[in-house]
Amino acid sequence: MREIHRLAVSGATVLDGTGRPPLESATVVIEGDRVASVGSAVTTPIPPDATIIDGKGKFVTPGLVDMHVHVYTPEKWHPEFFLAAGVTTVLDLGGQLHDVAGYRALIESGARPGPRILFTGPMLEEGELYAGFAGFCRRFDSTNTEAEVDALADAGVDAIKLYVTVRPDTARRACARAHARGLPVFMHQHATWGVEAALAGIDSVEHVNVFGQLAPQGFWLAEPAKLNPFEYGGWLWRWLGDFDPRSDAVHRLYDGLIAAGTALDPTLVLYAARPGALGDDVGDTSMDDPERTKALPLLPSAVGKELVGRWAERRAAAHGASEAARHRMRRAWDNILTLVGGFHRAGGMVLAGTDCPNVAIVSGFSLHRELELLVRAGLSPMEAILAATRRPAERLGKRELFGTIAPGRAADLLLLTADPLADIRNIGRIERVIARGAVYEPDQLLRGLRTG
Ligand SMILES: [Zn+2]
Repeated sequence: MREIHRLAVSGATVLDGTGRPPLESATVVIEGDRVASVGSAVTTPIPPDATIIDGKGKFVTPGLVDMHVHVYTPEKWHPEFFLAAGVTTVLDLGGQLHDVAGYRALIESGARPGPRILFTGPMLEEGELYAGFAGFCRRFDSTNTEAEVDALADAGVDAIKLYVTVRPDTARRACARAHARGLPVFMHQHATWGVEAALAGIDSVEHVNVFGQLAPQGFWLAEPAKLNPFEYGGWLWRWLGDFDPRSDAVHRLYDGLIAAGTALDPTLVLYAARPGALGDDVGDTSMDDPERTKALPLLPSAVGKELVGRWAERRAAAHGASEAARHRMRRAWDNILTLVGGFHRAGGMVLAGTDCPNVAIVSGFSLHRELELLVRAGLSPMEAILAATRRPAERLGKRELFGTIAPGRAADLLLLTADPLADIRNIGRIERVIARGAVYEPDQLLRGLRTG
C-alpha cells in the first residue's frame, strides 16, 4: 500500500452508486483522498503525472458500507478484513466510546489500514440491561432522555442506537433530540414495536425484529433482559415458520414504516446461520465457514477458535433437531426472505448490514453474502449494491462524503474482475481496493494481518 497523489483508473465499466446505468470505458481520476473527475475517456483527461491503473475489462463500484458492525474488543476487531473485502466504511452500532474513538484515531492517523468508522457509542437502554451486552449499553429514562442524547452528541457520535427496552414515548423524545442534533437513530426493537418505532421517528430498524409486532399473542416476550442467550436470538424462530408473510397485517406494517421513511437493515447473515447449520444453501459461506474459509489461518488464534467453536455448537444443535423443527426453521427462513423482499417491493429502503463479529460473522466478507441474500430476497443486484453504497450515505447524512463516485467525494472504490450486475457474488472478486485515495490489494492486506 502507498499514498498516491494523482491516480487514474482507466477503461473500466463504472457503476457510480447512484443507480444510473453503468458507464463503459470510463475514467476515474483521483487527487489525494478525493475523486477529481469521472466520465467517459473522451471527456475525462488523465493528468500527465497520474499513476494509471488499467481497468480494461474490469468493473468499478464505490467502496462498500457495512451499516451494522461492532468493533467490540481488540481481538475481535479486524480492520484489514473490512478493507480486504472492499468495505471502506462501517457503522458501529454499539460499543464503548473510548474504544471506537481510539480505533478510529488509529486508522485516521494511518497507523493501521482500515475502514472509515462511524459510531453511536453505547446503546441506550431504558430498562434492565440484557446481561450479554451490558458492557455496551448505557441506561437512561424519561428523566434524562434529552440529556443522554446530548451527552453522546457532544462526544462526537455519528448516530444514536436505541436498544430493546426503550419504550415508545422515550424513543420519540430521543429521536426528536437526536434529529435536532443532526443525528439519525437506529433501533433494535422489542419494547417499541414495528410501526410504533416508525411513528417515534426511528430512521432504521435493525434485524427483522420489526416483524415481532406481528407475533401471535402467546409468543410475546415482554422482558428481554430475562431471556437466556438462546431465546434472545431465537424467539422469532418459534413462530415465524407458521406466519403468513403476505398477510394484510404485514402490508400495514410496511405502509407504516414507508410512510415514516423508516429504513430496514435486516442483517440476513445473522439469521442465515441457523439454516446454514442444517447444511442448507445460505449463500457463499466460503469466508465464514471454518471448514471452508481461507481466512481462518490468518485470524488471531483465539478468534479462529471461537469461530470454529460457534460453528461446531450450531452444527451440534442442528444435528439434534427433529424433522419437524427443521421444517419449521426452513419455513421461517423463507418467510424472512419474503418479508424483506416484500418491504423492498412496497417501496421501502433496505440497508446492508451484517452485525459482525456477532455469532462468528467474519468482518467484511460477510457483507458479500448479505448482498447475495438481499438478491435472493428479491432486490436486483443493482439495488443490493445501492443498499451498501448510496443508501447508507443518505441515511447517515453523508452523501457528499461517500457512497457514490463523483467529483469531491472520498476516493473509496473497488476494482472488480467480473460484473456484479451479472452475478452479485462478483462483488467479492476484488483486485484492488482504494480507500481515501490509498490503494490496497486484498491478499496483501490479509498476509499483513498474519505477519503484523
Ligand atoms: Zn448489533
